[in-house]
Order: sequence, then C-alpha cells, then structure tokens
Amino acid sequence: MPADSTPTLHVIEHPLVTHKLTEMRRIETSSERFRQLLTEISFLLTYEVTRDLPTREVRITTPMTEMDAPVLVEEPVVISILRAGNGLLDGVLRVIPSARVGHVGLYRDHETLEAIEYYCKFPPIQDRTVIVVDPMLATGNSASAALDRVKADGPADVRFLCLLAAPEGVAQLHSVHPDVPIWTAALDDHLNEVGYIVPGLGDAGDRIFGTT
Ligand code: URA
Repeated sequence: MPADSTPTLHVIEHPLVTHKLTEMRRIETSSERFRQLLTEISFLLTYEVTRDLPTREVRITTPMTEMDAPVLVEEPVVISILRAGNGLLDGVLRVIPSARVGHVGLYRDHETLEAIEYYCKFPPIQDRTVIVVDPMLATGNSASAALDRVKADGPADVRFLCLLAAPEGVAQLHSVHPDVPIWTAALDDHLNEVGYIVPGLGDAGDRIFGTT
C-alpha cells in the first residue's frame, strides 16, 4: 500500500444520513431504535465506501440478448472493531452479503485512553480490499491499533468507516495511517477530557447493546 498518499476524509452529508444521525444523537432514542438506525445508516455509508471498487466484464444473457456486464472483481473483507463495530455489520452485510468478516477486540484504558488488544481473528486479507468499521473515531487510538494489525497481514487497500469522527481522531489517523481514507456521516466539534465526542451521541456500545 502506498504510504505517501494524501490523507482523505469523506463526510457523507446525504439528507437521509444526516436525518437518521440526528435521531441517533437524541438522548431519548431507545437502543432498539438506535440499532435500527445504525443498520440503515451503515447500509447507506457502505454504498459510498464501495463506490470505486473495481469491476470486470462478464458475458451474460438477458431475456433479450447477450451482453458484457460488470461484476465486482472480488468482495471486500470487513473487519469490525469490537464491540461497537458489530453494530455496523448488519447494514454493511446487507449491501455486501458474501463479504468475509474479521474481528479485532480492543478496549480503551480509561486512564491513558490507549487501545489494548484482547482478541483478533481475521479471514485471509492478503492483497484484498479491507473495510475496517467502528462507529466512533474519537482519539483514534483504537482505530490506529486496529489498522496496524490489519496492515500486518498485507492487504492491498484499507478503508476506515465510522459514523462519527472527532477532529482529533481524524488527525491521529491521518498522521499514523495517511494512506487509509476515512468515511464518516459527520465530523463533530471536539473530544471532551475523558475522550468522548462532543456533541456526539454518548457511548455507542452502550447505546447499541443497552448496557448503560
Ligand atoms: N466511543 C464512544 O462510544 N463514544 C464516544 O464519544 C467516544 C468513543
């Protein structure tokens, strides 16, 4: 992968995405509704993340005639950063149902905000396109650690998909992994003193799984 690429941030400001995100941010939104909206938004974001995937022509027969028509060269691999990344999987896999899925488990040390790995299982990703998913790009520490882990297996192309990003997380990811483009539904204002995105939506994992 080219290490000297210009860092890229795609903020998907589609009205359906921003409308759903506003409902997710509201404190009164239930976990059930939050999960449903996350699935819907991740479906829409996946459409954007995969927009430039390579295709090849195959010969097919329609009811009318023969033609050369495009199909994907191969499905991307999806890597979820546990646990909140799993909230994006339903939507992502609805768009790319045959994608293989890996998981990396990282938790944040609440004092240092450093990412500590406790689990990792990937399908083969060498020379593949990989989409790493996590709803919140906050400090960027978990995302950076997950991308280090993914890159160690030699993928051809790595992309990062999140729901919300903080400027601090984007700066961190761009400095450590400038070759990894980021897609997000919104770039929020800042991180607070304990590493939460403001205005944000709170703890995404707690809101997905109802653990508050
Ligand atoms: N993780 C979350 O779930 N929420 C934040 O605001 C930051 C990190």
